[in-house]
Amino acid sequence: MFKLFLLASIYIFALGKNDKVQIATIQFKVIQNGDSDRRYIWLHGDEQTARMALESHMKKNQGKAFLVEGILRESEFYGGIIDPNRIFSSLGAKANIQKYNPRWTRKEKEERLLTIDKDRKIFFKKIFPKNGELLIALHNNYKGYNINKELGRSDAKSVKNNQNPRDFFICTNRSDFEILSQSPFNVVLQEESPKKDDGSLSWAAIRNDIRYINIETRLGWLSQQKKMLNYIEKNLR
Ligand SMILES: [Zn+2]
Repeated sequence: MFKLFLLASIYIFALGKNDKVQIATIQFKVIQNGDSDRRYIWLHGDEQTARMALESHMKKNQGKAFLVEGILRESEFYGGIIDPNRIFSSLGAKANIQKYNPRWTRKEKEERLLTIDKDRKIFFKKIFPKNGELLIALHNNYKGYNINKELGRSDAKSVKNNQNPRDFFICTNRSDFEILSQSPFNVVLQEESPKKDDGSLSWAAIRNDIRYINIETRLGWLSQQKKMLNYIEKNLR
């Protein structure tokens, strides 16, 4: 009887709503609400405004959200660290391992790169939506980064006079861009892969033909990020 009970609990646990997924040592908590195939991801643990906006959004809206574990920008990685938004191509991951863990031996670097390379396809299967739904990433920025830094690699832009340049959307689909350019918010379209792939999720989304939107706001501007999320919810199908 006890065994049966134990088995049942393990089964329930495995099917639990709050599963985890991981790529190499980097873990993500999963929040699912309803059956919608819309996906959300939060990648940088120090960008707490984005986490709050996403967790609050998931209470009222359908979809599946992936939230990185930890509170630092870089994730723990085999005793070293790595930027979770630089592992989505082999070249990007390789450069990132080198940048943060220069003292590792060549063999350590190679083996650890191999684990990311092996896990990446499975991870993409879990986080990429099917049937043309959206993948929405949420980020926050500090002083320095703003929409002007993205204009050079963008295919179209809509920059509003009354909006802070540090709050903007980056999207990869032209129809989404056309709708977002009618919004009160700044937006750029990036539909081509860059020559030098840095391993960020946006370029992986382009390569895999995924509709992707990054909602970028100043750290601490929670209401602004919530407004931008709601605008997508109301206007993009
Ligand atoms: Zn970020």
